[in-house]
Amino acid sequence: MNIIDLHCDVLEKLTRLENVNFRSDARLDASLEKLKAGNVKVQVFAIFVHSELPDNEKFLAAIRQIEAFHTKVLCEPEMIHITEWEQIKQLEDGQIGAILSLEGCDCIGEDLQKLEHILNAGVKLVGLTWNHENGVAFGASEDSSKGLKPFAKKVVQLLNERDIIIDVSHLNEQGFFELLPLGNKLIASHSNAKAICDHPRNLSDVQIKELVKHGGRMHVVFYPPFIENGKETTSMAYLVKHVEHIASLVGIQNIGFGSDFDGMDHTVEKLADAGEYQNFIKALLKTFTFEEVSLMAHRGFSKFVNRI
Ligand SMILES: [Zn+2]
Repeated sequence: MNIIDLHCDVLEKLTRLENVNFRSDARLDASLEKLKAGNVKVQVFAIFVHSELPDNEKFLAAIRQIEAFHTKVLCEPEMIHITEWEQIKQLEDGQIGAILSLEGCDCIGEDLQKLEHILNAGVKLVGLTWNHENGVAFGASEDSSKGLKPFAKKVVQLLNERDIIIDVSHLNEQGFFELLPLGNKLIASHSNAKAICDHPRNLSDVQIKELVKHGGRMHVVFYPPFIENGKETTSMAYLVKHVEHIASLVGIQNIGFGSDFDGMDHTVEKLADAGEYQNFIKALLKTFTFEEVSLMAHRGFSKFVNRI
């Protein structure tokens, strides 16, 4: 079954590891060979800039990852850069769609022009924060009662004008609720249900319902600490619990996947990399019908972007 995955951190690894190749490097969880083995048809590649980096080096780090996207990912003939959503439908057998996202606006400081440069590279999803405070808002590891900063209005306005999906996955709670009425297109690209695993990176039932009420979607993440409380590894069955819970809240049509491959130090059993994606599909098919699983795997997101 074809997969659309909304989050991986392979670009960060492609800029950090020596002599790395995207096609087959064993150090990558979402290499081209593994994406193919797992039937991943569309993969979102996040630009992720480490928060410890000095502020004046962050923008360049983001540009370097965009450069790696071109020189190491798109140079492979199978990889097709998705800059318009209708291109997803046009992908041929053997081709994999590649989408850029920005995981947090830390690298733009308070400079809207920097965000424009990044969007001009073909970025289609933007998160306002990673886990920490930046010029726009506060991340999930910060005080949950702090709202969006004044600069957020300009950022969200630009993202709306450019039809960019705003990713709420790393945002803190107050920022999330303030963003809901402002953002036109919203998705949690890689978050799970707080009711099943109480972690600041997960969303409460109220948040999940409100997100969908505002036209958004929930894409579940495969990182064990966001699946089972305090666990470094966990089972596929536990991950399926999140899917069942979210489905009971907002319906299967609003659920998708955002693995976080290449951004995790621990993985779910039998789901260690993108090559094992079909094991997750098999696990879901024990609970859900083929139609339901294909809705989660790719059809739901395709319908969502068709409306954009
Ligand atoms: Zn993340």
